[in-house]
Amino acid sequence: MNRARLLIFNAALGPLDYRVPEGVAVEPGSVVVAPLGPRQIVGIVWEAERLPGSEVPDAKLRPLLSVLPVPPLKAELRRLLEWTADYYCAPLSSVARMVLASGGALRGPATMTEYRLSGGMPERMTPQRQAAIEALEGEQATIRELAGIAGVSEGVLRGLCNQGVLEPVQVDCDRPYSRARAEHAVPVLSEAQTAVTKRFIDAVRARAFAPFLLDGVTGSGKTECYLEAVATSLELDRQTLVLLPEIALTEAFLRRFEDRFGTPPVVWHSSLKSTERRRAWRAIAAGTAQVVVGARSALFLPYANLGLIVVDEAHEVSFKQDEGVRYNARDVAVMRARFESLPVILASATPALESLQMAESGVYERLVLEDRYGGARLPAIDTLDLTVEKPERGRWLAPRLVEAMEERLARGEQSLLFLNRRGYAPLTLCRNCGFRFQCPNCSAWLVEHRLSRRLACHHCGHETPPPPACPECGELDCLVACGPGVERIADEVAVIMPDARVAVVTSDTVNSPERAAEFVERAESGAIDVIVGTQLVTKGFHFPELTLVGVVDADLGLEGGDLRAAERTYQQVAQVAGRAGRGAKPGEVLIQTRHPDAPVIAALAAGDRDAFYDAETEARRHAGAPPFGRWAAIIVSSEDEAEAKEGARLIGGTQPNVPDVAILGPAPAPLSLLRGRYRYRLLINARRSAQVQDVIRDWLAPLRFPQGVRVSIDIDPYSFV
Ligand SMILES: [Zn+2]
Ligand SMILES: [Zn+2]
Repeated sequence: MNRARLLIFNAALGPLDYRVPEGVAVEPGSVVVAPLGPRQIVGIVWEAERLPGSEVPDAKLRPLLSVLPVPPLKAELRRLLEWTADYYCAPLSSVARMVLASGGALRGPATMTEYRLSGGMPERMTPQRQAAIEALEGEQATIRELAGIAGVSEGVLRGLCNQGVLEPVQVDCDRPYSRARAEHAVPVLSEAQTAVTKRFIDAVRARAFAPFLLDGVTGSGKTECYLEAVATSLELDRQTLVLLPEIALTEAFLRRFEDRFGTPPVVWHSSLKSTERRRAWRAIAAGTAQVVVGARSALFLPYANLGLIVVDEAHEVSFKQDEGVRYNARDVAVMRARFESLPVILASATPALESLQMAESGVYERLVLEDRYGGARLPAIDTLDLTVEKPERGRWLAPRLVEAMEERLARGEQSLLFLNRRGYAPLTLCRNCGFRFQCPNCSAWLVEHRLSRRLACHHCGHETPPPPACPECGELDCLVACGPGVERIADEVAVIMPDARVAVVTSDTVNSPERAAEFVERAESGAIDVIVGTQLVTKGFHFPELTLVGVVDADLGLEGGDLRAAERTYQQVAQVAGRAGRGAKPGEVLIQTRHPDAPVIAALAAGDRDAFYDAETEARRHAGAPPFGRWAAIIVSSEDEAEAKEGARLIGGTQPNVPDVAILGPAPAPLSLLRGRYRYRLLINARRSAQVQDVIRDWLAPLRFPQGVRVSIDIDPYSFV
């Protein structure tokens, strides 16, 4: 090959051709450095016939500068990237960027300097130095990390370096991870688990595309089953990817993994330090990272020798990315398994209707675990009609729920109150003039967070301290909180049950794996009587003394324009209900609602999952919604309101007339202002057979928009805001 076509990370430019200099070897997938004007850019060599570009005569080609010291991206991965770009109507370069997710890793092997105590003492001891030396016993890390550990400034530590108290150590940035061992602690499985596990093990050995839906109630032992598939993959010296929906859940998983295999897996998520990120990336590309546990972004990494993919809590909405490349990691995981000829396990206690439908039609093999493991029984579920059993004025918990909590407290058992709303109150207004606090960048109310003393926008991060007076009328002490968030419920519990020890669990309070571990330890040791939490507490935790779950407002999820609102409510409440009675003691669930007869609430109360899925299936079929029809959205946004409107009008005015495709809008989006951008949207509802992506591409391709207008396409959208 003496010329090469590069995929480069500049969507505006498109692919570029270069000359391959004498003595340089590249192949499709090679990651290279090339000149672009006066700059140097990174690109990926691609098959020219698969990446149309303008033909440049040989004589005009500039030479490639170098090939980066990383393995070329495999053909299977390149095909997955092409499929993802095509399906989600996203630029191929944006998708490929997710593969090269560590700049440092591309530069090849490296060492770095870490520091540790040398055993020497400083000439002059200060209390700060004394404390630092004590805190750093047994530690080795960079100066910055050590400063964090010791709680002193980097300057203090640099002083200790100069005096030889801290000594430098050269470390290999890519030092290997400790090896997981398949035989470390082989579990004893139930009969049902053994049957399921055997199917997985056979599939891993066969190394062919095999999608499984592992469907089992919470506590039925799904994790034990798929960990045995991981064990087989380890024995065969292949890599495994386990996708988890939330990084807060990782802690519980890591502990189980370590118990089973003797060492933690390699972790991948967005808040990794850059050194950890490069180490993980290089081990993944080299094939030495045996098992990778990560958030959705781990899906596109360049595994050298993947043998199995597991998607746990596969129904979770957070697998859908709502910015940039708007892909659904659950669906792309199945495609990756297909391109690489692997088994993929989607595990869930409340599968998405789409997944059940795939099982029904025979595409996925559905494996069911009916019973809770170890004899624990499913909790008794009851509804509590808030229009009849009213909470006291200004309160949110009905008397029967309060009584049940008091009983638990008296018996030394735990209660969990679930409300999927962070902060203290979702709206603050002025009693005097009616002024409401709204985000300046979004069409959304500011949420009061009393613990951190701020009013915050949950969409853009804008925050401001609560003012002493109303900004509109100037009246002092006139601001009222409207509606409850978890912090307010926790306050109510503190008033009703002053002796109870209450923990608020949200992404504000449990925002790192360390904080999650701390919470789990406190809850397990019995240091918490009442947990008040958002969806963060709905899964992954296993507290034997937790015997009561109260759902504060089951109707909350049913409000708003979410297509899957009923399904999501069902999933959340079923998941949180599954936290009760996981030990030997039976659990009880009380669901507060104003609509006890709504099909989803009635099905929950009856514990009748099939009734819910049947009703929901009919509703979706009737609406032509997924999985029976398809949705897509086009979002037009601009910082200039008139420009956004004009862009939407342009798209709306050129709507194609295609059979089986209905187009709704344009209309202002429910969140008509988001992060300072005005938004309009169009919704497309199509039959399953319609080629929605082609329709959208043909429709939008000839249109030219003003500079500030951004047009985003969301295929199979989840969020309708
Ligand atoms: Zn006012
Ligand atoms: Zn905002």
